[in-house]
Amino acid sequence: MPTRSEILAELGLVPTWRRRAGATIPFADARADRADVSTPRTASSAEDLRRIEIRALQWGDLETHIDACRACGLARTRRRSVPGVGDREADWLFVGEAPGADEDTTGEPFVGQAGKLLDNMLAALGLSRDRCVYIANVLKCRPPSNRTPEPLEIEACRPYLDRQIALLAPKLVVALGKSAATTLLNVDASIASLRGRVHRYQGVPLIVTYHPAYLLRNLADKAKAWEDLLLARRTFTAAGGRTAE
Ligand code: URA
Repeated sequence: MPTRSEILAELGLVPTWRRRAGATIPFADARADRADVSTPRTASSAEDLRRIEIRALQWGDLETHIDACRACGLARTRRRSVPGVGDREADWLFVGEAPGADEDTTGEPFVGQAGKLLDNMLAALGLSRDRCVYIANVLKCRPPSNRTPEPLEIEACRPYLDRQIALLAPKLVVALGKSAATTLLNVDASIASLRGRVHRYQGVPLIVTYHPAYLLRNLADKAKAWEDLLLARRTFTAAGGRTAE
């Protein structure tokens, strides 16, 4: 855990800057100058501190932090938090939307029907959930009745996914469905408009495909999902990744 002074340093709140007599202030700084510069700026909110703390967490502490999180209301209604599962040195990261009822019971992502289809998709790529693959969701807690995540919930949970990706440093990210794609890419767009090309998340190649639960209801789009997986495999190989024989 970072110390308070490390957190303040990262926020730029120390040292306490004083203006030299006669120094001119660039226009952009003029508003800050109206504040009392003799004391540290206290603009940092609890949320800023929380985000900085999360950015310094290692795997074990990250899961503890997720379980203790009360940044949105979902912790009040879920049974278990669902941080993620898989190989923490994985080259492949698959990101879904949020835990459902089965995941809420077991604490593991994608264990229901959609999970079975995801396992088949992984097998088609010569992968499995415990080797070379990590699976996570945008939200770590189940929304009641599996409703669509609210923007505020996504924003509250985003630092956890960002930290997981930083710790993993995967060679490729596969966004499963609209929530994962639009959250990771910070855009509001349809899956149809995002799939079929290579995006980037902080420099890491990212492929968008349909969510397995959607594919269970729309079998005709399975062929498109297969094209996406082939693109993912080509992109992975081009990024220097090695696929199992
Ligand atoms: N759907 C998801 O997006 N994630 C899960 O973990 C299960 C179903």
